[in-house]
Amino acid sequence: MSGLLLGGRELAAAIRAETAQRAALLTAAGTPPQLTVVVATDDEASAWYVRSISTAAVKIGINCAVVELGADADVATVRATLDRLSADESVHGIILQTPLPAGARLEDLAGAIAVEKDVDGANPLSLGRLAAGLPAYAPATAAAVLAILDHHGVELAGRRAAVIGRSTVVGKPVAHLLLDRHATVTVCHSRTPDLAGVTSTADVLVAAVGRAGLVTAEHVKRGAVVVDVGTNPTPDGGLVGDVDAESVAEHAAGLTPVPGGVGPVTTALLLDHTVRAAATQVGVV
Ligand code: NAP
Repeated sequence: MSGLLLGGRELAAAIRAETAQRAALLTAAGTPPQLTVVVATDDEASAWYVRSISTAAVKIGINCAVVELGADADVATVRATLDRLSADESVHGIILQTPLPAGARLEDLAGAIAVEKDVDGANPLSLGRLAAGLPAYAPATAAAVLAILDHHGVELAGRRAAVIGRSTVVGKPVAHLLLDRHATVTVCHSRTPDLAGVTSTADVLVAAVGRAGLVTAEHVKRGAVVVDVGTNPTPDGGLVGDVDAESVAEHAAGLTPVPGGVGPVTTALLLDHTVRAAATQVGVV
């Protein structure tokens, strides 16, 4: 299956359909699922992303509120907002949108999101629980990587996996999820010497860097499956991944496209997590 595109749109649609059914059950039981997005930025890309989540949520029967704190909000205000939402029984899922105001770190602030409402796995406790093999919501992007591999029937147990990127949002949780599935995982980053030497031994390669075209044929083992998490804007308003698709396509057995790969599955899983969180909180599992 040389150069097969491992798309995410079909999977995303299936997840949304199932999530809509669960949301309808909750609404019929008198508790419509409620997602709240906290925004403390005037970043345009972020505003676009929040609008797209909000539209997708409403379409499948999830109420979505956006709390706009402004780009100059101080850390105490953001924290107090997260504390208030965490204590609010009508709110089932909370997302703290990035970028954050200057000086604020997601890892610090997200600790104020109640773990049971942490549908994008931003609270460090969620990552800790994930690492310990305990139930927790993984960041939706990391969960999407695994979902797309499963959807396309990629075997993980006993295979070598390499993850390029070690952020708490993508790289680290993906590594934990792969490990949990019995892959032998190597995590690479900006100080990894001979990146291609390491990644070209992997049966499954996940690129989560944010550099267009970083991954070329020399980084990829012949017959490997490559998941491209990167989203890099192009000057003409488009989007490309971290993988140079043209050179890698000849080498790889499968490659996720950008756009249309991990991205749509991420949004669908964020909503799936929200409905699962609501079901658990209201006791309608
Ligand atoms: P990040 O926090 O900037 O982390 C990037 C990682 O890449 C870091 O660990 C960094 O290493 C590593 N890196 C940078 N240059 C490298 C190089 N030349 N060789 C090897 N590793 C290198 O980014 P992120 O938040 O994880 O996001 C990664 C990408 O995924 C971005 O393009 C982002 O837009 C995209 N993303 C997509 C989705 C989606 O839904 N599709 C969601 C979230 C993020 P150091 O740790 O050493 O600095």
